[in-house]
Amino acid sequence: MKIKRITAIVTVAVMLIALSACQSSYTTDIFAMDTIMTITAYGKDSEKATELAKQKIKQLERLFSVTDSDSEIGNINASTDFVEVSYDTEKIITRALEISNMTQKAFDITIRPVTKLWGFTDNNPHVPDAMDIESALNTVESCRVEIENGKIKCTGELDLGAIAKGYAAECIRAIFDQYDIKHAVVSLGGNVMLKGSRPDGKPWNVGITHPQNSEEIIGILKAQDTSVVTSGGYERSFVQDGITYHHIIDPKTGYPANSGIISATVISLDDTLADALSTAFYVSGVEQSAQYWRQYGGFDMILITDGCIYITEDIYDYFQLKDGSFSVVKLEK
Ligand code: AMP
Ligand code: MG
Repeated sequence: MKIKRITAIVTVAVMLIALSACQSSYTTDIFAMDTIMTITAYGKDSEKATELAKQKIKQLERLFSVTDSDSEIGNINASTDFVEVSYDTEKIITRALEISNMTQKAFDITIRPVTKLWGFTDNNPHVPDAMDIESALNTVESCRVEIENGKIKCTGELDLGAIAKGYAAECIRAIFDQYDIKHAVVSLGGNVMLKGSRPDGKPWNVGITHPQNSEEIIGILKAQDTSVVTSGGYERSFVQDGITYHHIIDPKTGYPANSGIISATVISLDDTLADALSTAFYVSGVEQSAQYWRQYGGFDMILITDGCIYITEDIYDYFQLKDGSFSVVKLEK
């Protein structure tokens, strides 16, 4: 059995080209939430704001970790009664439950009993027993989450892995607003948060990882003042008996999602939404995702299947394809 993990640096190649020299800037790296993160900010208070962003990420990691039994999520998972939680934990769970309902539970934070069995977060990935998956799915099915003024009760177990980095990006955006940082780029694994444009006024170039060869990029998206979040099975997978299994689980089956999508990117100024939806769309496939986009809007997306790339109309002209073997479809409202 072989485990394959691709580091964040490869996952999203943000190209910082021809940056203006007259702005002061500050860059720092941090390893948190199981990935390498890089924060670059421009402006007078860039160092202070970046250091505060780093502290915020560490604080959120301590609150949201599923492997740390002392975290707030650890406490919620260990108890079937109300547990006192911080503002951030209440906010992220409230938002996650809303998005879960809107995606018909393709994105579902109560999936932890199933993701625990697959062992990705415990560095012991393996195919679980089918009976165990069945019983974990029953726990997910009957799970109830209640939120009451700073207290949360969950009859099952929560996993914030598909939304935590998006929420962290949202918090960093707020810190940058507070310190009047007008230009910044934050790379959090498969998530890229862009504040404003590049300092020279041009949009940022965000490389989208090639899902069939994660050392390469499949194309470049020009974007600014938004989050670009990609979910792909290639980010975490293992091979058992010649079959590749990845970490994004279809809550309907308890097995790795098999919707035909091999990479789902969501682009939105709502950093948290972009993270949750990229996971949801990876699970639910092209047709349902396009239907969701037409119904709700408020974001753009790039969905990749074996041989085809679907791009929503508003960003179509801003995506430059590098691999000509894929055909491109423009999604229209
Ligand atoms: P992402 O990389 O944002 O797509 O998130 C993947 C992570 O979210 C996995 O490693 C799991 O911890 C968790 N997860 C897997 N499947 C789901 C799902 N269907 N809904 C919510 N979280 C999930
Ligand atoms: Mg996600």
